[in-house]
Amino acid sequence: MKFGPAFKVMIILIAVFLVASFFFLLEDIVPASTPVPAPGSEQAQKIIPLFPVFAETDSEKELIFYPQLPAPGDFMIVEAGPLSDEVEVELAIDFPGSISHLYRLGGLLYAVVAISYNTEPGSYSLIIRAGNEEQGSDILSADILISDKEFLTSQFSMPASRTEGWTAERLAEDREKVRLARETTEPYPLWTERFINPLEGRITSEYGAIRIINQNPPRRHSGIDIATEEGEPIIAPNRGVVRLSEFLLSGGYTVIIDHGMGLSSTYMHLHELAVKTGEVVERGEKIGTVGMTGYATGPHLHWEVNIGQVPVNPEQLLDNELLWIPPAYVMQKIN
Ligand SMILES: [Zn+2]
Repeated sequence: MKFGPAFKVMIILIAVFLVASFFFLLEDIVPASTPVPAPGSEQAQKIIPLFPVFAETDSEKELIFYPQLPAPGDFMIVEAGPLSDEVEVELAIDFPGSISHLYRLGGLLYAVVAISYNTEPGSYSLIIRAGNEEQGSDILSADILISDKEFLTSQFSMPASRTEGWTAERLAEDREKVRLARETTEPYPLWTERFINPLEGRITSEYGAIRIINQNPPRRHSGIDIATEEGEPIIAPNRGVVRLSEFLLSGGYTVIIDHGMGLSSTYMHLHELAVKTGEVVERGEKIGTVGMTGYATGPHLHWEVNIGQVPVNPEQLLDNELLWIPPAYVMQKIN
């Protein structure tokens, strides 16, 4: 039996059609990344992974993190699951940093992971483990590449009068108060919408900057300095509980807000305080005014953001992606 040229062309066309439809089908199976839904929208309240999967060690379970290429001083949002609520898990990292409270909702686990500004660029890992290091098994793991980041060095002098009357004991007491305030946290997110800027102004010192003051050994800048005129109102970037509102030697008038899960924001050198310890502040509420109390030479706000005790880049908090973690009100709706 012989095939005519018309028949051969038809066979080729069918083959091309089959290959093409396979690729069309693939596109249906692999969805494009979903944009972050508007806060409070119906979509935001559904518990769905919003970003593409970066690591997968099991055919069903996924470990997702954001940003994909973090830098020293960044924090990452981690989502893992589905995990049975009955299984106790821990999250482990092999780079200097800290891990927030693990927040579990709808079979998924969320965490905020701080990468210390002292971290050397390189390849690291995130591990979700059932049980603990001694007795347990790894459920999920992901490789993380931490990029290089250059931090500026600056040198300046401070008049000795700024530290007059300071004692080592008082400084140690203040450090302990700050440590406790940052440790005191609700285990779930208190934020409800995107974080907003607490103060508009000129950034006079970057986060992580290496600073040499009065020939002292170099120290890292744990926050950002925003300079404006004295008396300008400072607002809460999001909802939270005030864990500290008082005068500290170095920080001057200081406010620390707990936003839940171990994420806190700190405001130093205020002219006056507008909130009290234990108070719930809403996003946009005035917490104080810009001043130059404590270890400061001019009116500015020292704004710091911590995961546990580890300071991270505050500017990253204004990144909408933090909303990836469903706020606690979603939990209330589900339960
Ligand atoms: Zn500062």
